Amino acid sequence: MSMAGLLEPDVALEQVLAAVPTATSVNVPAGDCLGLVLAADATACADLPPFDRAMMDGYAVRLADAGATVELLGEIAAGDGAYQKPLPAGHAYPIMTGAPLPPGAEAVVPHEQTQRQGDHVDLPERIRPGANIVPRGGECPAGRSWAKAGAVVTPMTLAAALGVGAKHLEVHPRPRVVVIATGRELAADPRIAGQIRDTNGPMLAALFQEVGASVQRQVVGDDAEALCAVLQSLGDVEVVVLTGGVSAGTHDEVPGVLRRLGAEILFHKVAQRPGKPLLVARLGRQLLFGLPGNPLAAHLCACRYVAPALRRLAGRTSVPTRGRGALQAALPANTERTWFLPALVEQGAVLPLLPLSSADLVQPHQANAYLRLDPGSTAMAAGAEIDYTRIGVDAWAR
Ligand code: AMP
Ligand code: MG
Repeated sequence: MSMAGLLEPDVALEQVLAAVPTATSVNVPAGDCLGLVLAADATACADLPPFDRAMMDGYAVRLADAGATVELLGEIAAGDGAYQKPLPAGHAYPIMTGAPLPPGAEAVVPHEQTQRQGDHVDLPERIRPGANIVPRGGECPAGRSWAKAGAVVTPMTLAAALGVGAKHLEVHPRPRVVVIATGRELAADPRIAGQIRDTNGPMLAALFQEVGASVQRQVVGDDAEALCAVLQSLGDVEVVVLTGGVSAGTHDEVPGVLRRLGAEILFHKVAQRPGKPLLVARLGRQLLFGLPGNPLAAHLCACRYVAPALRRLAGRTSVPTRGRGALQAALPANTERTWFLPALVEQGAVLPLLPLSSADLVQPHQANAYLRLDPGSTAMAAGAEIDYTRIGVDAWAR
């Protein structure tokens, strides 16, 4: 049922993913790696913990003193420097959580299991060897692998990296994207008659930042020379996303400019609505997307084609979450192209946000999912079950 000559949306997505360039891994300061994917197993540079560590507030004791009344020595608190004074038999040190154990101590007995009498304390009859102590390197000794290739760097990964003394991590590089909004109507001053604000540029930049890319933005008029110059000045960014000027209007310069620069057009036009004019091209290692200018079309194409490409580039394999829920309003029959509809999904209830046109901004702004209606599908009544695909992907999923 596809429209003659147009690519099916799933074939288009496959072609995009197959064209994603492979990136060589980089060694990056751990603090800059949030959201990136490890390209190699990471090895501990230091023992964690770095000393035998008390895990409770209580007393550092010898096992032989179980059941005895022992004399207390000076307190050891967290942060006390290497505690070199050994623990003599018949004695105990009051010790705090996080403090280093003195040599000779074999367990930490929590306060609540003891009876204090001035500068003495009664110890319980049974004390388990190593109780409430994590020995030096007990969580991870230096030289051991502590994280696997393919893992996403989460806030806790940053903490673990610091804990094991790893200053740098080997990661897939953060994808670099340039978003270029094209159109002579995109004025710096929207008070001028006929001019509008560039709403796609900031929307696309936000969307790509959300999936972990580093994004730069440009705005260019419908001017082939200027667009050529901008594209040639980009350096080695992996992905370029143009919006506007990709259809067949008099001022739609994008396809011609890409051809002039020697880009290989992978496809132009997809059997979908919105977003039929989508163009994808390759220039050397660079992947270029020509998204339509209509905001909802640009958004759908960015979610469905660009974001998965960026995630693949970053070394991720996860796909958007899918689900099924009950329609909160009827949907009309579909015509000959796959129809992607924004929707708000809340606790299994699927509210379609039927836009007036693909130029809409306000109606779809609260969408968190897209519905998909196949070509020729019949009308659906409210209450019917429907599949949805979430917009965006779990930030910490592989
Ligand atoms: P085009 O794809 O260039 O034919 O543009 C289609 C529609 O989208 C026109 O109404 C444009 O004014 C509008 N449009 C194009 N680019 C943008 C943009 N960056 N932000 C908001 N609207 C845009
Ligand atoms: Mg235009």
